[in-house]
Amino acid sequence: MSDDSVSKLQQAATEQTESLQEYDIVVVGAGLVGAAFALQMARNFTARVDSDVRVGKIALLEARPMAEQAELFATVFDPQVVAVTAGSQQWLDTLGVWQASADRACPYHRMQVRDGEGTGCIEFDAAEVQRANLGHIVENSVLRASLMAAISAQANIDLYCPDVVASLQKDGAIITVNLQNGEQLNTPLVVAADGANSQIREQMGFELRTWGYEHTAITATLKTQKPHGFTARQWFAPSGPLAFLPLRATPQEDSAGGHYVSIVWSQTPQQAARLMALDEIAFCRELTLTSEGALGAIESVSERLQFPLTQRHGVDYVQAGVALIGDAAHTIHPLAGQGVNLGFSDARVLAEELERALEQGAGLGGLATLKRYQRRRKPDNLAMMATMEGFKRLFEREELPLRLLRNIGMSGLNRLAPLKNSLIRQAMGML
Ligand SMILES: Cc1cc2nc3c(=O)[nH]c(=O)nc-3n(C[C@H](O)[C@H](O)[C@H](O)COP(=O)(O)OP(=O)(O)OC[C@H]3O[C@@H](n4cnc5c(N)ncnc54)[C@H](O)[C@@H]3O)c2cc1C
Repeated sequence: MSDDSVSKLQQAATEQTESLQEYDIVVVGAGLVGAAFALQMARNFTARVDSDVRVGKIALLEARPMAEQAELFATVFDPQVVAVTAGSQQWLDTLGVWQASADRACPYHRMQVRDGEGTGCIEFDAAEVQRANLGHIVENSVLRASLMAAISAQANIDLYCPDVVASLQKDGAIITVNLQNGEQLNTPLVVAADGANSQIREQMGFELRTWGYEHTAITATLKTQKPHGFTARQWFAPSGPLAFLPLRATPQEDSAGGHYVSIVWSQTPQQAARLMALDEIAFCRELTLTSEGALGAIESVSERLQFPLTQRHGVDYVQAGVALIGDAAHTIHPLAGQGVNLGFSDARVLAEELERALEQGAGLGGLATLKRYQRRRKPDNLAMMATMEGFKRLFEREELPLRLLRNIGMSGLNRLAPLKNSLIRQAMGML
């Protein structure tokens, strides 16, 4: 071999070593769930530091560039919001990210659920369970920006963004994550937080159960004539539920004294296509009709987004060296606003189980450890999915006896304080 060829081979080997990084955990996806999980684990690693334990290192991979989005949504509303339960809020507070979101988070003190086809109504009030509020409505981008700010201050997280996984290889207890930019990351544990269409779930051969909801959700921000009164409102019609979620005004809008709500309007795909095609005036007219004029005249202030809704559930959330969390493990109908809250619980519980493994000197990617996470999370996630499916089916039935039963049931439940209080606590993530 010529000297030239040897030196080329040596250079290639050096480049390969330089592009091969070792991490304790590789998290794929810096959505709300992946970012919160990475932050919790980074804090756990730092807290364990003593003289002979090195700080664990985390790689966080994200496909979408972030900076422009954060700047954009500092002044205008993000049409995508989540209802954050008190349980999730507490956790985000311990992570030090809640305060940074708080001035854009709108508390809701009451929740009204109406049967759009009848007179049934049930109202939940935070005062009934001696709480200041039932939860907060927060724009996704606001929460994400707070998480990313905390992550950038964390020395043991390396953010790869924008970066996408090209492939994964398992070699014994080590997984090599090959990035599209040619870099390679070696790790004992890959945490897939890459959302509903998870590439990692697909590549690693996880089995998935899916049920089409036959619904598409439309989201948008609206300006309303009357104040929302810090109340989340939901109308159930046979074609799907409509939610009005109260918002805090952005600094810009605040001076104009506007009242704002975010809507999630789930409809059959045909109805959703029709609604998406309407002009602003006709769309707002339909909204006023369905919401029974509860907040007076309505004006649209954002683009409309649409999301086809599918229920997904991983048969397993884990295999040796890989764990699915958040929407990568399960997706549910947004009608009860629980998706991200379930994802946060996944992230918190997985971090707890990994912490326990570290204390016992066990490896992070061990199947027994990961299975403990799966055992703790699956029943809750499945129970919530079954409840949402039941709600959806109950409200789409149009037969008169069922409508009457629904109305009587809702009004009856409204008077049953103990059962109602238990429902409120469950919805708040406090049980
Ligand atoms: C209309 C609607 C309303 C909702 N309302 C609520 C609500 O009120 N309350 C609630 O709790 N939940 C709600 N949800 C659900 C909630 O939005 C989701 O459960 C939550 O956002 C999921 O977060 P995630 O981090 O798991 O996934 P995602 O938010 O999907 O994040 C995944 C991230 O991974 C990145 N990614 C994907 N593939 C790769 C790859 N190969 N490499 C690197 N990065 C990758 C993506 O860019 C993304 O940033 C709603 C959902 C919808 C559709």
